[in-house]
Amino acid sequence: MSHHAIYDSMQDNCADILTPTCPFCGQQGWITVPQAGADALIEGEPVQDALPEVDHRLREQITSGIHPRCFPGAEFGEGIDPDLIHGP
Ligand SMILES: [Zn+2]
Repeated sequence: MSHHAIYDSMQDNCADILTPTCPFCGQQGWITVPQAGADALIEGEPVQDALPEVDHRLREQITSGIHPRCFPGAEFGEGIDPDLIHGP
């Protein structure tokens, strides 16, 4: 079973993942992923296998809660589709 908190998304064929508390800013976050990827996560697939098309920084957020903008040395927003990031 998955330890991820995954919810239905407002977007068709997508799911929203509630990411863990970020150790840098102390806030959780949300990432919208394709439903098929969410299903694979629920099945217990590793994040990198379930969501190979998702930016590795967002996969890191799913795993550890660290937001791309909080990652040491990160340049916020670089190469990340803003539609994928909403919240916290
Ligand atoms: Zn953060």
